[in-house]
Amino acid sequence: MAEDPNTWELETRLVRGGMARTPYGEVSEALFLTQSFAYDSAAAADRRFAGDDPGFIYQRFGNPTTQMFEDRLALLEGADVCRATASGMSAVHASLCGLLRAGDHLVAGRALFGSCRWILSEWMPRFGVEVTYVDATDIEAWKNAVRPNTRAFLVESPANPLLEVTAIGAVADVAHAAGARLVVDNVFATPIFQKPLALGADVVVYSATKHIDGQGRVLGGAILGGAEVMTEAYKDLLRHTGPALSPFNSWVLLKGLETLDLRVRRQTETAVKLADQIAAHSRVKATMYCGRPDHPQAAVIANQMSGGGNVIAFDLGSQAAAWRFLDALAIVDISNNLGDAKSMATHPSTTTHRSMPEEERLKIGLTPGWVRMSVGLEGAGDLSRDVGRALDQA
Ligand SMILES: *Cc1c(COP(=O)(O)O)cnc(C)c1O
Repeated sequence: MAEDPNTWELETRLVRGGMARTPYGEVSEALFLTQSFAYDSAAAADRRFAGDDPGFIYQRFGNPTTQMFEDRLALLEGADVCRATASGMSAVHASLCGLLRAGDHLVAGRALFGSCRWILSEWMPRFGVEVTYVDATDIEAWKNAVRPNTRAFLVESPANPLLEVTAIGAVADVAHAAGARLVVDNVFATPIFQKPLALGADVVVYSATKHIDGQGRVLGGAILGGAEVMTEAYKDLLRHTGPALSPFNSWVLLKGLETLDLRVRRQTETAVKLADQIAAHSRVKATMYCGRPDHPQAAVIANQMSGGGNVIAFDLGSQAAAWRFLDALAIVDISNNLGDAKSMATHPSTTTHRSMPEEERLKIGLTPGWVRMSVGLEGAGDLSRDVGRALDQA
């Protein structure tokens, strides 16, 4: 007897959602390394291309392994449709290209991942799209930025690297009143702790490279949303521009989803303890963590996130102190990635955010003393000792 996967608990969705077995009855999902698909007859090929028969045509359009990943992630997110992409950046880029055309206007939260900022500041203007940046925590700023030609809003919440949080529902209301669609980059919250579509967003994007892989292996991304926007804005764009996720990477990410909940919850449990330890240390000037009551948007967090996540940011007062901290770490790696099983810490001003003009960095509060840490799956005692010792030497 088959059950409706929509009635399943989250953990069951992550392990079994989207499973499409071949007649061999394999238990671990099959990896279909095939570019194209053969048809039983010329008439069958005709029906497939006409869309009357739902089978696969070509890897750029879809693949059984990729579809299992897409269906599983859609089930987790509560989205009608998920389309996988080759990286988080191809997801962000396509999510905007599908909504915007020359003459349109985009409003975006100022604190954005470096490559997202490049797309907005350097790339979009080439195609006649105007961009306004706002303080994403200020609802009035979103309202004031709206123009008659505003068609899309983009926000990352929590944002990289200082974890500022945006009230997604309130910003969605402003977007919809303006006739625009809201795209949320949900990487830092993860699909475990925040559901932007349920909060009012139209489109959610992920870098699956982060927590969804979670073991530092492959790049991947995803765009999720309701059936209408996914068809109208993205179906043809993704087919014809070709940011398809490879079946191999789809398979790795599909298996990553099986343990996503376990990993993210364990990482968060450790992050909660480390954030308190970091905040209490005499060398630390400020600590940002979405799971602490002193986060400036704690009330918004309580309303829209069910966990603080695994990223902590803290200010050691100067670049020299931040570098001394990083160089004193023995277990935690100095690395700019996040969501990995291995803990890592980075100095955003000289790595992830070095291409952001200093003046812009200061606008988001990113002074040279900040360190961003992604908490992994190592023992909490070992991490506490490593971070404690490095803070003493900062
Ligand atoms: C890493 C990241 C991206 C880009 O993802 P890639 O998979 O590296 O292309 C986009 N947004 C956020 C918030 C990220 O952390």
